[in-house]
Amino acid sequence: MLPKVSAQRFSSAHLTSIEGYRHLVDAALFDELQALARELKGVRICHVNSTGFGGGVAELLARNVPFANALGLCTDWRLVQGTPEFFSVTKALHNALQGASYALTEADKAIYLHVNRESAKLLHAEYDVYIVHDPQPVAFLEAAGRRDARWIWRCHIDTSDPNTEVAAFLLPYIDLYDAVVFTMREFLLPGIRVPHTAFIAPAIDPLSTKNMDLPEKLCRQVVANAGVDVHRPLVVQVSRFDPWKDPMGVIQAFRIARQEMPGLQLALVGAIAGDDPEGWQLLSLVQRETEDDPDIFVFTNLAGVGSMEVNAFQRACDLVIQKSVREGFGLVVSESFWKRRPVVAGRAGGIPMQYPAGFERYLVDSAEECASDMLELLKDSELRRAFGAAAHEHVRKNFLLPRLLRDELALVKRVLSNPPNRR
Ligand code: UDP
Repeated sequence: MLPKVSAQRFSSAHLTSIEGYRHLVDAALFDELQALARELKGVRICHVNSTGFGGGVAELLARNVPFANALGLCTDWRLVQGTPEFFSVTKALHNALQGASYALTEADKAIYLHVNRESAKLLHAEYDVYIVHDPQPVAFLEAAGRRDARWIWRCHIDTSDPNTEVAAFLLPYIDLYDAVVFTMREFLLPGIRVPHTAFIAPAIDPLSTKNMDLPEKLCRQVVANAGVDVHRPLVVQVSRFDPWKDPMGVIQAFRIARQEMPGLQLALVGAIAGDDPEGWQLLSLVQRETEDDPDIFVFTNLAGVGSMEVNAFQRACDLVIQKSVREGFGLVVSESFWKRRPVVAGRAGGIPMQYPAGFERYLVDSAEECASDMLELLKDSELRRAFGAAAHEHVRKNFLLPRLLRDELALVKRVLSNPPNRR
């Protein structure tokens, strides 16, 4: 039996004006953004993805959509609502596109295409541009038909070295798009043939609940209420329970560092995303590994750790870890840098580009390296302050929402002023 699906419209926050962002970014960028918005006023854009919560794409869209509407565009966000079988297949496709091995079956293909096709049938509203995110809904265009619109596929993951069978299955659906977007040139999926390719890094919203300024006292209170001792050093990793984020490696690094710094505490703050069935297994592994360790805390969104709490943890800790072994971008790195926190992170995907010049030495390739960098930073508050200040400025210049919208709107303009893909 094939699953039932729906293409839900997802509502997000409302924003009436973008003026609050003016003083945060460079004047030339803000002017460029407003000029593009004037040119594209009234253009109807529909973002399509497969989850409304958990993970970077949902985080991005929740802020991108109201921001674009405040700029005068008519932007919607639609969800392809899959089923557990669909998400098991798409998680495997996601992993395979990042290089994991996977034997794709005919049954997998059937579930994948069925959900895409049924969802497309339910999408009645008409738009000028569709922006489809990640591999889960990539066959949406083939199913929906071109509808006299332009279609952009926005890939958030590193597809530079994919499983060839999975890539061969998806490429005919991708090649129908007018444009594809990758976070960086190195991520380009080999063999793609579309009229336009763009490289656009994601960004964070400095005014969201996740990133807005919070009083230091409040942050300490939130962390203390969660059971953490605010008088002892604290390191934090915020990420989905996903093997690519290496939570077990973080625990290992923490335990090495603690030998030299008794009293050190670790908080693993981890969301379970709506489209990520693997998360539960890893969460129980992490819980089993840490249940007898009083210095390690594990929190999830399911137990009420939401955006405000993540914000407080990122601000109240001494140091952030993001020990990813594969990473699309890693919004959490920019989130932490924006809060002037130093980060020790895996040298993976889009993480290095977020590092300010001179601090790349805190990118690591092993748990041992991670532990020794943590100790170096934890022992030197002046070094942490200098790193945090440089990182904040680097994020301000490169990874805030107005820059992302400027780049996205420039691409929308480009596809609208060129003929559609004739495939
Ligand atoms: N996140 C959260 N709560 C958690 C774990 C993660 O709010 O318990 C958020 C995090 O702050 C970030 C996003 O989820 O905004 C994760 O995005 P990222 O690009 O780092 O990784 P992804 O999950 O997309 O691979």
